Amino acid sequence: MTVISADASQPLGPDEVGFAALKDEIGAYVHDAGERWAERIERERVVSEELWSELRDRGYLRLAAPPDCGGGGLPLTRYLQLLEIFSMSHGSLRMIVHVCNGIWRPIAAHATEEQRERFLVPLVAGDIKVGFALTEPDAGTGADLRSSVVREHDTYYLTGTKHLITFGTTADYVLVIARLRGTEGADGTLALMVSPHGEGVRSTLMPEMMGLRGTDHAQLAFDRAPVPAANRLGEEGQGLEVAIGGFLAPSRISLAMTCVGLAQRALDLAVGYARRRETFGRKIAERQAISFKLAEMATDVEAARCLVMHAARAWEWGGGSVTEASMAKLFADEMLQRVTDAALHVHGGIGYFSSSPIERVYRDARAQRFEEGTAEIQKMTIARELLRR
Ligand SMILES: Cc1cc2nc3c(=O)[nH]c(=O)nc-3n(C[C@H](O)[C@H](O)[C@H](O)COP(=O)(O)OP(=O)(O)OC[C@H]3O[C@@H](n4cnc5c(N)ncnc54)[C@H](O)[C@@H]3O)c2cc1C
Repeated sequence: MTVISADASQPLGPDEVGFAALKDEIGAYVHDAGERWAERIERERVVSEELWSELRDRGYLRLAAPPDCGGGGLPLTRYLQLLEIFSMSHGSLRMIVHVCNGIWRPIAAHATEEQRERFLVPLVAGDIKVGFALTEPDAGTGADLRSSVVREHDTYYLTGTKHLITFGTTADYVLVIARLRGTEGADGTLALMVSPHGEGVRSTLMPEMMGLRGTDHAQLAFDRAPVPAANRLGEEGQGLEVAIGGFLAPSRISLAMTCVGLAQRALDLAVGYARRRETFGRKIAERQAISFKLAEMATDVEAARCLVMHAARAWEWGGGSVTEASMAKLFADEMLQRVTDAALHVHGGIGYFSSSPIERVYRDARAQRFEEGTAEIQKMTIARELLRR
């Protein structure tokens, strides 16, 4: 199996043939090592550091970042084809690949030269882990946020609570979106790189989730946590711009593609099971009730894939907006729920047991309705643009 060079000085730059080989390599990895990791994570309920190292050493965590900071430089449309394959795997493996290949974007867009060296280059190399903290238990996600800072000389003192933060107990830094105390709305927000292990920060592991087992999620409580002003990305007042600006569209499109990948996995499992399972003397795949269901599922997956790639191409060409990204996320995550539900149905009762691979796929799928914003948030974005035109 080809291993992508872990040497960050060697850009991946795959040509057509190289890209096809890379896709095959990732497909084989997901099918083989990925399945072994899935079994281990479900058994141990924890994601081992070994998995992070393996993904890093194979170059899978730096596929999409630009070559000038050590990344593979894959355009979004190409990266998505790989992300689709990773998303057929365990939700926690998908989460690592998805976050690491996306979180560089807000940092790259706003980092100073010094911050590029301190945060971006080690992140892309896989030497540090970075999470993202916007969601709060006592406020709406966005301009409503309440975590606040006061500045004293070259230090911000951060107070407030974030929760549901992916990698919040294991990350070296979390990109925290807060506000200058006393401000309201988007004005006065700022983005800070904060160590979840630093002074004044209490990082508490959240209870185990329904799916995505093994991935740590944290509640982060800040009590006048000191953060150097040198850790601020962008300017004061630009916090939501850093969090959402150029990051939101590719991030939502990527999440939408993870829905396509997982739905494809559910469909493949359903097809395989329908071919094997016999009732009343015939394979259930030969029953029109089942084969038509499979046909509808395949059509649903393909429609979402096309919409996601359309949004990605529009974004790459510069003509796309967050609206297309929201449409892709909205359609793909609802499609994923329809397809995983139908796939479980095709399996009959045995599909509901943890011995069936569709059981985990079904649980993992439900998380994707929340990541990168719920359906209501996507509809608000689409409707706002629709009514503004
Ligand atoms: C697996 C997982 C990983 C996550 N990782 C992170 C992370 O790393 N960093 C991070 O910051 N967050 C993370 N989140 C949080 C996620 O982004 C939020 O759960 C999501 O944005 C919804 O916000 P909320 O949970 O606060 O829901 P709420 O805002 O409490 O919403 C509750 C319900 O009300 C609806 N609703 C809310 N406001 C409105 C409105 N104005 N109009 C109509 N309906 C509305 C919502 O759609 C939802 O159905 C993660 C969540 C999950 C499940």
